[in-house]
Amino acid sequence: MSRVDFSESPAVDLVIENGTLVDAVGEHPNTSVAVDGGRFVAVGPPGAMPVAERRIDASGMYLLPGMVDAHVHFREPGMEYKEGFPVGSGAAALGGVTTVLDMPNTEPPTDTAVRFAEKLDLVRGRSWVDYGFYALLGPGEATELEGLADSGAVGFKVFLGQSEQGPGCPLPPDDGDLHAAMGELARLGLRLAVHAENHAMVLHGIAKVKAGRGTGLEAHRSSRPPLVESEAIRRVGLFAADTGCAVHIVHVSAAEGVAAAVTVRSSGVDLTAETCPHYLLLPDEAIGERLRHRVNPPIRTLGDRDALRKALATGDLQFVASDHAPHSPAEKSANDVWRVRPGVIGVQHQLQILWSRRDEFGLSRSDLVRATAFEPARTWGLWPRKGSVTPGADADLVVIDPNRPWTIDEDVTHSANPEGPFAGLRGTGAPVLTLLRGSVVAKGGRLVGSPSGNWLPGSRWRGPRP
Ligand SMILES: [Zn+2]
Repeated sequence: MSRVDFSESPAVDLVIENGTLVDAVGEHPNTSVAVDGGRFVAVGPPGAMPVAERRIDASGMYLLPGMVDAHVHFREPGMEYKEGFPVGSGAAALGGVTTVLDMPNTEPPTDTAVRFAEKLDLVRGRSWVDYGFYALLGPGEATELEGLADSGAVGFKVFLGQSEQGPGCPLPPDDGDLHAAMGELARLGLRLAVHAENHAMVLHGIAKVKAGRGTGLEAHRSSRPPLVESEAIRRVGLFAADTGCAVHIVHVSAAEGVAAAVTVRSSGVDLTAETCPHYLLLPDEAIGERLRHRVNPPIRTLGDRDALRKALATGDLQFVASDHAPHSPAEKSANDVWRVRPGVIGVQHQLQILWSRRDEFGLSRSDLVRATAFEPARTWGLWPRKGSVTPGADADLVVIDPNRPWTIDEDVTHSANPEGPFAGLRGTGAPVLTLLRGSVVAKGGRLVGSPSGNWLPGSRWRGPRP
């Protein structure tokens, strides 16, 4: 809470009045926020607000910092038929997400400074929310890490295990190249996001299961046991300890993965880790198993699901990200699991799912803000500009109506392929208003205005762009 004397100031742009502000440390009832020039300028009791040109009454509503979704695949360039930035970022805005960090496994991949600049040009003016880009650490000796860092990459991404082939499916570097690149990233001061699976074990597991003619989700699950994940986390942890490289483990799926992350962190490594809404929610009796739930790593057991919930509540896992990974209807609808492309969508509905199920997940509202805004912003160098409702921060805000009932169906899913993993799921409490830097971008389930998202360069940015 902070007070400023506004008695002689001109009117500010906007005051949102009398909601319950939730931040990473607690809840603050009867709180108003003032916005001017795209930033918060005051946060406090209604009586302490400046005169405003516009006022929004938020009585009975919760005010949260806009979600920072640090793991999306909007598929540009090269795979726009799966989704693209305008649709993906629109889904984000509708779901209370105001910042996305987009992955580099595109076609071509974002693995050179020239390609990074091309992606910037491609997305400019077409995103509904603010965005940053990862750069790819691909196979072979990495030669452009510094150029990509200077271009403004927010961090790097490496796929240690890859079972798929074709566009969007980069192979891993070998351990020698990975270790050398991590030394360079330590020097550059950028974090490495890691898809942690043991590549050779994944290929071996798939060959074995296919020989046994398994075609269902259980076959897919058994082809990538938890050891595939925990081995990769421990290996990258050893390399991080040796090089000083900061690492982030994406989409932790297994109890053994959590244990590996905790062990590595306790050895002194700067390691953060995320899980995703599908691993927290599934298996779920009401939803059941659907082949379209195929994702790498797989959704596992009730025991794994519960371990991930607990790890998020205790802070052993730092945050939630959607790993929003759209595919076309044809790519998700085969009746053989090996012909269903891995990946699910989630950027639009994750916040309302977390909100509605938070008691079951063991999360307070404040934990939710920590896991959806504060920690991802801090991990990727965006805090306190993002993920924070304090004077000076970008005025990214989501207003949640705690009494609003919802059902996820194709009509409300903003996607090129609205047949998502959670279709039919019901809950209570959902975003009704999303503000990006003080401007309303989504209201009552509809997008407002035109795309106004800005690029968020990483900490090494040496702009202007090459
Ligand atoms: Zn991903």
